[in-house]
Amino acid sequence: MSETPHPGQEPQDGIRGLPAEDAVPGSLGRVAIVTGAARGIGAGTARRLAADGMAVAVLDLDAGSCGATVEAITAAGGRALAVGADVSQDGQVEAAVATVAEEFGPPAVLVNNAGVLRDNLLFKMSGDDWDTVLSVHLRGSFLMSRSVQKHMVGQRYGRIVNLSSSSALGNRGQANYSAAKAGLQGLTKTLAIELGPFGITANAVAPGFIATDMTAATAARLGLTFEDFQAAAAAQVPARRIGQVDDVAHAISFLASEGAGYVSGQVSATGNSPAR
Ligand code: NAD
Repeated sequence: MSETPHPGQEPQDGIRGLPAEDAVPGSLGRVAIVTGAARGIGAGTARRLAADGMAVAVLDLDAGSCGATVEAITAAGGRALAVGADVSQDGQVEAAVATVAEEFGPPAVLVNNAGVLRDNLLFKMSGDDWDTVLSVHLRGSFLMSRSVQKHMVGQRYGRIVNLSSSSALGNRGQANYSAAKAGLQGLTKTLAIELGPFGITANAVAPGFIATDMTAATAARLGLTFEDFQAAAAAQVPARRIGQVDDVAHAISFLASEGAGYVSGQVSATGNSPAR
């Protein structure tokens, strides 16, 4: 493990405080932004990247909601910053990325995780349901990537990880979400092509069922207990268990690491059945 500063960036005191064995080589002192990190997969990913040695901007709609994630990271000796922004809004995205760059230095890692569901069968899906889901997942990832890439190009280094889903291949009641998650795979591959010459990789993870507030809300909408919903989902998964936040965070940690520099434009399924 090296504590050599990365270009344009001094090591952070808080990161130096991490136990050396916890840091992933090449991650120490790098700056990461994780969107939708107040809870769920985003919160787990923020904690994981901080444990890897990164200074992490914990971004969500309301900075106040990021407190628990920030406190968990700082309590473990890491460095974190709460940032409030709606990823679908250009001005808020630009301001948020500028704040991160001022406070922590230029971001080198971006995890586009923020998401919402507005599930409904096609004949009942409103235009607003469509627009909201496409705006947060797809436009949000576009705006965040466009804003962060200039900092990555300046460093000749970057790692972008987008949250797709097994639903990208189609899922009943999710015309909007499936389209957004499939679109994210196309965005990922295009970013990999355009940004590759600058030392920047772009990959996607496409989880199946992960236990979070999002899937708990789906169970409630379907009139199922979360336990029954999880049991039914687990039966379809080769590992015969549903995924946990840390399962996804671990895959993202690898894709965000310096060592993954020759992996780009890929979609990594986590926990899905082979048919998907
Ligand atoms: P979650 O609902 O628990 O968390 C999503 C977070 O995103 C929330 O904190 C929310 O406030 C934030 N957010 C929503 N809109 C935002 C916006 N406009 N700007 C900034 N932040 C915003 O969801 P989760 O289950 O942790 O899912 C995280 C990501 O993983 C999502 O993109 C989701 O589609 C994807 N995913 C989840 C599963 C699963 O089974 N849970 C499976 C595949 C993919």
